[in-house]
Formats: sequence, C-alpha cells, structure tokens
Amino acid sequence: MSISENLDKIKKDIPPYVKLIAVTKTRTLNEIIEVYNSGHKTFGENRVQEMTEKHEQLPKDIEWHLIGHLQTNKVKYIAPFVSLIHSADSLKLLREIDKQAKKNNRVIPYLLEIYIASEETKFGLSFEEAEELLNSAELITLKNIKIKGIMGMASNTNDENLIRQEFSSLSRFFNLIRQKNKNYELEILSMGMSNDYKIAIEEGSTMVRIGSAVFR
Ligand SMILES: *Cc1c(COP(=O)(O)O)cnc(C)c1O
Repeated sequence: MSISENLDKIKKDIPPYVKLIAVTKTRTLNEIIEVYNSGHKTFGENRVQEMTEKHEQLPKDIEWHLIGHLQTNKVKYIAPFVSLIHSADSLKLLREIDKQAKKNNRVIPYLLEIYIASEETKFGLSFEEAEELLNSAELITLKNIKIKGIMGMASNTNDENLIRQEFSSLSRFFNLIRQKNKNYELEILSMGMSNDYKIAIEEGSTMVRIGSAVFR
C-alpha cells in the first residue's frame, strides 16, 4: 500500500475525536510531502535538530509536535514554531520553555510526559511527581506556557494485557488530575503508537502518534 493509503486506513480506524500525529522521524522530505499532499498537516518529530531542519524546508502551515526528550539548551530552536511539546518532564525545562516562548511573543502548549512502562529506559515523571508539578505555585506564574494534558508510552512488548494496564493507569490518572485541576484546560491524553494505538483508544486516548504504520 502507498503512504496515503496507509493514512486513510488509520484514519478509518480512529474515532473523529482522536487526533492523529504522523511521526516523521527518519523520513525523507519526499515521504513527508506525500502525506502533506494527501491533506494531513500535523507531524511529530522526536529530535530538535531534525524537526528544525524539516520545518525550514517544508510548507509553513504544518503543525510540528515535539514528541521526544527535550534538553533545556535546545528549547530556543523550536520555540518560534512548535505547536505542542509532548515531553515536558521538569520545572526547570518548563521555565526555559516559558522564557523562550516569551522571547517569541507566544504561548507554547505542552503535555507532561508520564512514565508508565515497566522498562527502565523511558523518560518521564511518576504520577506523584506530575501531581507535585501541577500543584507547584510557580507553575501558575509561567504565563507563556499552557498545560494541555499528559503523554505516555507503554512498554515495548507483545503482551497486550500489560500494554492495556499501562494505558488504563494513565487514563485513570488523567481523569483524576482533570477533576482536581479545573483551573487548567486538561484535554489531551497523548498515548498510542503504530503497534498499540487501538488499545490506547479503547483506554481513552485523545491523540495518537503514529510513524511506521503510516510510512511502511
Ligand atoms: C517514534 C515515536 C512514535 C511513533 O512510533 P511508531 O511505532 O513508528 O508508530 C511515537 N511516539 C514517540 C515518542 C516516538 O519516539
């Protein structure tokens, strides 16, 4: 199947309230243009340099989402154009995003990345750390950033029960913090990739990040 046929098939699989982020990491400009020409304009990258280069070379009406780990010293490169940062995981990073957003005269939306996988290698906050951050008095003073929800990645495994448990725990946490933090507009639960997005949607995902299933 072609890239645009893959995309159509995925779009049929996901309900209208779930937003699809086409993950373009390692893909060529031609591959990305094929998706763009089919009408899809929301893309995700996990590295700052790759995202910045692609942003420079591709049409400017593309929405770029940063989905991978973000280092404080790289925030300045994406601050002028990033649409959503999925991977905020410390107050220090949020201070820098706020500072760079202010320089660019904008408000940058972000998600807190939460650690749900049973693997050791993933980035992110524990539920406790995320709640602490949400409750911190300083967060409210950072006027050039806006929290929109949370993101998580399940274990990289074939064990569907484990994946479902992990997504379900993130979904429960999402509902809990929405109840407790009505002052924030928490509306995005970013979970689900090529191999697990169907389970993620069943467990309440509102945004899926799909790469290989689009470009294979
Ligand atoms: C690569 C990546 C994806 C997409 O993974 P696929 O398995 O190719 O769909 C989603 N989220 C993050 C954070 C990624 O790094």
